Amino acid sequence: MSSSVLAFSAQTRQENLDRMRSTQFDILVIGGGVTGASIARDAALRGYRTALVERADFASGTSSKSSKLVHGGVRYLESFEFGLVFEASRERRYALRNSPHLVRPLPFVFPVHKGDPRPLWQITIGMWLYDAMATFRNIENHQTWNKGHALRQEPVIGPQGLTGATHYYDAATDDARLTLAIIQDAHQAGAVIANYAHVIDLLQKDGQVVGAQVRDGLTGDEFELRARSMANATGPWTDYLLKMADTDAARRLRPTKGVHIIVPRERIRSQAAITMNSPRDGRLMFLIPWGQFSVLGTTDTDYEGDPADVWADADDIAYILESARHSFPVANLNETDIISAYAGLRPLIGSDAPTGYKVSREHQILRTAPGFFTIAGGKLTTWRSMAEEMVDELARYLGSEHGLSPSQPGGTVDRILPGGDIPDWYTYLAEKVGELGNRFSPETVTHLISTYGTGYSEVLALAEGDARLTEPLIPSLPYLKAEVIHAVRHEMALTLEDVLGRRTHIFDQVRDNGFEVAPQVAALMGAELGWSEQERARQVEDYQGIVEKARRWRGDNTRL
Ligand SMILES: Cc1cc2nc3c(=O)[nH]c(=O)nc-3n(C[C@H](O)[C@H](O)[C@H](O)COP(=O)(O)OP(=O)(O)OC[C@H]3O[C@@H](n4cnc5c(N)ncnc54)[C@H](O)[C@@H]3O)c2cc1C
Repeated sequence: MSSSVLAFSAQTRQENLDRMRSTQFDILVIGGGVTGASIARDAALRGYRTALVERADFASGTSSKSSKLVHGGVRYLESFEFGLVFEASRERRYALRNSPHLVRPLPFVFPVHKGDPRPLWQITIGMWLYDAMATFRNIENHQTWNKGHALRQEPVIGPQGLTGATHYYDAATDDARLTLAIIQDAHQAGAVIANYAHVIDLLQKDGQVVGAQVRDGLTGDEFELRARSMANATGPWTDYLLKMADTDAARRLRPTKGVHIIVPRERIRSQAAITMNSPRDGRLMFLIPWGQFSVLGTTDTDYEGDPADVWADADDIAYILESARHSFPVANLNETDIISAYAGLRPLIGSDAPTGYKVSREHQILRTAPGFFTIAGGKLTTWRSMAEEMVDELARYLGSEHGLSPSQPGGTVDRILPGGDIPDWYTYLAEKVGELGNRFSPETVTHLISTYGTGYSEVLALAEGDARLTEPLIPSLPYLKAEVIHAVRHEMALTLEDVLGRRTHIFDQVRDNGFEVAPQVAALMGAELGWSEQERARQVEDYQGIVEKARRWRGDNTRL
């Protein structure tokens, strides 16, 4: 086995939990979304003794519910957030270079119609600025298209009143798998990591936070984890942790809910991602191509309530469909087209903005008690630079209060994510399609390479003794049975939802959310994890409960 993928399994988790009980760490990261994952990676690369605990699965919070864009954020130009656009454009460039399998260029088309809030000439000026913010090093500079060209390129655009369009580039990613790759790299760098490890309280001594009380989500066991400093990277749960540290802590977040729907690509075919507008409030949204599918969204509404219980409702769906029909009348999308819908919370910093849409996406780092740091707000795109800034803060604190210096230089600007050592993506992909073409379809090879990069061979190696593992889990999708085994051995997948919802995207990509294939996946996972018949049945039942919640917006149609 090549060294690109280390074991990262239930056994690794158990060993890590044991180490957490017996080690004093320099840095404890709370939260295994993209922000926590990247802080742990950066800290471990600087040689700090680093632990990360995640209450559920990695990326199970907002980091698997985004629009999956690594983007400069063209719309932030409107609110003059030039610093954010500059930073995000730079991070997009690094991400494309350091994780070419997980972050791919994506063309965008911005159509302009008569009566739109901004005429074509204004959008064109904005696009020049957008190219300038990327120091003219984006994938390609923008182009301005006349009406005829725009309709020839993207016939789905509403022709009525169209004055033209601009064409520009951003990038798309797989948010859950990007988070996982960062977690795996943190593990490789020496961070001690466990999912299903919930911080239920903070340990304090003389006004200082000195550790956390952690509950193992699988066994219910509790233990104390000692650390010199702590990074609260809990996204929408930020205020819960701030309250744990200080019961009088003021509320910092103003979370907003964002919903997306997924439809078959052939129902609304586009080459590029295309912006769309809500006829209700003029909000800008996107139609995003996603393999065989198109993703449409998102909404942006204030949310109060449990961050673990966020689901799409009928109003969200109506709003998105109305916007899609307004912007793409030819497709005339309706509810029966929808394969699935997902909802997430933006962990935005509180403000007096009249609507969530106007709240800034900038992040903030707070130190509310000695050694207790919180990072709030931010974006998926800026994960690397946010982490660098946070670890700089932690390093200053550890240096001044504990006399600790980093034992390694660290640095993440040029560090490649696992599987991403691919100098030329298209050449590599073409080579692999050629090599594996007698065993797999080009779609399957493309899926394997864009999911695992150079690590695809680890997945196929699992099937060497058992050809059945090269069979697809579901005939219409490219996921192989071997990927389930790989998820358990190398990606710390512990539940059906981990595999069906985040290691693969079956949950989002079939109309029954993977309900039918769940027992088969339970059998494959169970054989690896030693599940009894009873445990398999319990896993399937738990999964069905999640499926039913995700289908609530369907009303009477909730039960399968
Ligand atoms: C609809 C939507 C679309 C978006 N689209 C984009 C986009 O296209 N591009 C972009 O750049 N950004 C986008 N964003 C923003 C981006 O997704 C988020 O900024 C980012 O994912 C937040 O990551 P996080 O790690 O801070 O939070 P999360 O991913 O929510 O992670 C926090 C983690 O902390 C864990 N946790 C909570 N409490 C505890 C505890 N007590 N103990 C242990 N663990 C705990 C949670 O389980 C969770 O996994 C979007 C956001 C939304 C909602």
